[in-house]
Amino acid sequence: MSARNSTSDPSASNVAKFKSLDTKIQQVLREAVEARTFAYCPYSKFQVGAALLCENGTIYRGCNIENSAFTVGICAERTAFAKAISEGNMKYKAIAVIGYQEKSFTTPCGACRQFMSEFGNIDVYVAKPELDQVLVTDINQLLPHQFMHPSSDYTF
Ligand SMILES: [Zn+2]
Repeated sequence: MSARNSTSDPSASNVAKFKSLDTKIQQVLREAVEARTFAYCPYSKFQVGAALLCENGTIYRGCNIENSAFTVGICAERTAFAKAISEGNMKYKAIAVIGYQEKSFTTPCGACRQFMSEFGNIDVYVAKPELDQVLVTDINQLLPHQFMHPSSDYTF
C-alpha cells in the first residue's frame, strides 16, 4: 500500500502551536513567511508564501504571481513545486503555506491540491504570518479521492 492510500478524514486535521513543531518544520514555516513578502499580487493584494521541504532537506520557496490575464497567474504552492521539479528534486516531505485571513487558515486551493497530489501524500502546514497556530494536515485529507491518470502508480 502506498503512502497515497491513507484515510482521508478532514476531521483528522489538527491545530498545533508553532513552538511544539519539529525545528525543521519551524524553519520551513519561516521560509514560507519570507517567501510571502515577494508575492506579486497587485490585483488581489492577497499575499501567499509557500516553502516545500524535499526529502534531501532542500527547501524551495514560492509565492503567488498574478498577471493582467488573471487565469495565467500561479499560486505559491505550485511555484515552489515548479522550482523543485525543475532542479531535479522529486521527493518531498512537507509544504508550508502562509496567508493572512482574519478568521481562517489559507489552505491550498483546489487546483493546488490536485497538482500536489500528483507527487504523493505529504504533510501540509498552514499558518498565518505571525506563526502562532498551525493547521497540520496532509494532501489526502485536503483532497480525498483525487484524480489520478490510469497510467500512474496510484492504486486503491
Ligand atoms: Zn492554489
